[in-house]
Amino acid sequence: MAELTHFYEKFQPDHYDIYLDINREKKQFSGRSTINGHAKQQSISIHQKFLKIQAVQADGKAVPFKIDDQNEAIQIELSKTGDTTITIDFSAKLTDTMMGIYPSYYEVDGVKKQIIGTQFETTAARQAFPCVDEPEAKATFNLAVKYDEHDGETIISNMPEVKTENGVHYFDTTMRMSTYLIAFGFGELQSKQTTTKSGVRVGVFATKAHKTDELDFALDIAKRSIEFYEDFYQTPYPLPHSWQLALPDFSAGAMENWGLVTYREAYLLLDPKNTSFEMKQLVATVIAHELAHQWFGDLVTMKWWDDLWLNESFANMMEYVAIDAIEPDWHIWEVFQTSDVPAALQRDATDGVQPVHVQVENPAEIDSIFDAAIVYAKGARMLVMARALVGDAALRKGLKNYFAAHKFHNATGADLWSALGDASGMDVGAIMNSWLEQPGYPVVTAKVVDGKLTLTQQQFFIGESKDADRKWQIPLNSNYDQVPDIMADKAVTVGDYDQLREQNGKPFFLNAGNNSHFIIQYDETLMKDILGHVDQLDAISQLQILQDLRLLADGRQNSYANIVLLLPRFAGSHSNIVNAALYRVAGNLKKFVAPKSTEKHQLQAFFNQLSAAQLERLGWEPKSGESNNDQLTRPYILNAALYAENAAAIASAHSLFEANQSKLAALPAGIRVFVLINEVKNFGNKAVFNQLLDDYRKTADASYKQDICAALTSTTDSGLIAELITKFKDADTIKPQDLRAWFRGVLANEDGEQAAWDWIRANWQWLEDTVGGDMEFGTYITVISSVFHTSQRLAEFKAFFEPKIPTPGLTREIKMDISVIESRVALVNDEKDAVNQAVNQVVK
Ligand SMILES: [Zn+2]
Repeated sequence: MAELTHFYEKFQPDHYDIYLDINREKKQFSGRSTINGHAKQQSISIHQKFLKIQAVQADGKAVPFKIDDQNEAIQIELSKTGDTTITIDFSAKLTDTMMGIYPSYYEVDGVKKQIIGTQFETTAARQAFPCVDEPEAKATFNLAVKYDEHDGETIISNMPEVKTENGVHYFDTTMRMSTYLIAFGFGELQSKQTTTKSGVRVGVFATKAHKTDELDFALDIAKRSIEFYEDFYQTPYPLPHSWQLALPDFSAGAMENWGLVTYREAYLLLDPKNTSFEMKQLVATVIAHELAHQWFGDLVTMKWWDDLWLNESFANMMEYVAIDAIEPDWHIWEVFQTSDVPAALQRDATDGVQPVHVQVENPAEIDSIFDAAIVYAKGARMLVMARALVGDAALRKGLKNYFAAHKFHNATGADLWSALGDASGMDVGAIMNSWLEQPGYPVVTAKVVDGKLTLTQQQFFIGESKDADRKWQIPLNSNYDQVPDIMADKAVTVGDYDQLREQNGKPFFLNAGNNSHFIIQYDETLMKDILGHVDQLDAISQLQILQDLRLLADGRQNSYANIVLLLPRFAGSHSNIVNAALYRVAGNLKKFVAPKSTEKHQLQAFFNQLSAAQLERLGWEPKSGESNNDQLTRPYILNAALYAENAAAIASAHSLFEANQSKLAALPAGIRVFVLINEVKNFGNKAVFNQLLDDYRKTADASYKQDICAALTSTTDSGLIAELITKFKDADTIKPQDLRAWFRGVLANEDGEQAAWDWIRANWQWLEDTVGGDMEFGTYITVISSVFHTSQRLAEFKAFFEPKIPTPGLTREIKMDISVIESRVALVNDEKDAVNQAVNQVVK
């Protein structure tokens, strides 16, 4: 295949006038792109996808053009190079793909309505208007939009509206920006607005299906996040406003369009009176993430998609830095430890995973590099390491210079490292490149050999692997001063162990704070010492021990049977992050037992033993004024108690259900899902099922919707499972954006697994047609691989997906997921007897 040329090399736009006329009724739009730019050669290419091109002119004269759908292009022949104005007339259909310009559907008081929104990242601006749709092709834009407007509708975009004439809304000229960040939305919107200290207008917009107070939380977080970033970056917010718009249909979580951020409703709006603390934390971090991008990503943009990590890794770190600054009592970095860190460590251990920095050209593959566990989570952890190395003063100074040097333009990873390097006087790039360019991460083995404490590093794998002899520059963060700060070699001898132990007076520990991207295999002497003092360890260190042991067991360098014996020691912890790590291990044990077997009963008894005292302590109902730790721990305990079929827990949940049957949405949000699951599973019938399904259709509360999805998909009734599956294609009940959660719910249900698996195989083509154009499509395969754990399912998975390996954008995912299931099947086959014996041994 010929090397792809970036269109920007042939034609460089300076300014666009975009006119769009959108008709919702007829589901179509037409428009004109007028592009002033500079032609480097006479044959140029402009992006388009799914557009019908009526005419192309250069400097007012018709020019020859050819539609090249394979390259998503219009090929244009100019009569000369140099400055020119290209005018393109086009039309297209409005489709329900959640890409380009698309409708979102919702109901108010039983009346069906729609609003129009946009989603252009990565390569869908070309579906809305002809343009050079590459991040480097920055230009200014004048947007003008007309639509089949009626009274009471509002239209918003990146910039403020300057005038309306003959029904056309004209927006102010944008700053120099990339096409993928253009956005607009219109319909019957409500909003709440405020102003930051520095005078930026901040607003939250949503449909009128929501109560007005659902906008308050987001408005407060958005305002304070912008104020925080202006101070931290020492660079003013560059636009007059920052609008946050919730769209009822939205594929990803949120999108950082400059000045008009779009969100899934679940990640922006919440009921301030009844939302779990966990959900509030999540919404706050999503908002802070998108607003971090307004500088990092929007003001300064990656030059090409290979440096996507520059955008996403950075925003992922900053969401925690920002929320930690504005809500210090939340201890938001704990969420990083229980979500991003394990996701990165798990995914990054499979051979074939992409590095954070990944070469990519083909549009179909650009979407597939948004591997959240790598580009977001691992990349963020990598930057957390960089932050720890240079310190906040140098980080802020470096960023200020980086923004000043590259604003309204583009940058690469090397530009960031050099800015941080200049500010700190360290060769940051040399250390970070080993993490950025190489896939995977090391396990550091700490051993006492001939009396000497020695450390060695080797790449850690879960599943089949080829060792490529990789080496990392590892910030060791030891609690012993004698250990070097950075381990650059394969092996290090620290010194005489007995002497070191004596001098330091505490067990030897690496990666304190768990912020470096590696795991540790301690030898027996060192591990015994640590476990002997486990009560003196802080919560993060306890989490880290459980997490590393679990990963080592997945990688066959430890055994789950050993961990089973340790779990009771941690079961009394009041820390939510220790419980998160504990119940993640315990959850993995479920794969070792067959449905309805004696082994399963024993495992249930073990869950009961782990959770019973905490259940007694915490109870079902949240107490006013209880600690964040208790609020966040309760869900783990209730979940465990229900798996254990703890009779008291089942009875309490049932009575909560009965007492609230007419107002289920009002159950305390932190426990509602467990009350509903318990009811469906243990007392379920057609009437309860119908009531919940009806509530699902009617409620605009995204948290409540998620709870109902979790409850209904846990039914054990095969008739009801079959009925649920008929709803998968009914967009009036289950929106395409939410289908994956429903599918996962049924698949992960022992009684639903077969039906869900049959459904997806029979409907793969439909799924591809419905959500195939979308960045999240490949994650359906990830979901399946996270559930399967038997030889039979492995064979079926291969039979179905192996022929799809050549599909652009799915190749890596399918190969990795086969490896994930293979390694799990081997683990279960090899270790189930030992694991079940260990469970027997600890159950009292
Ligand atoms: Zn992002």
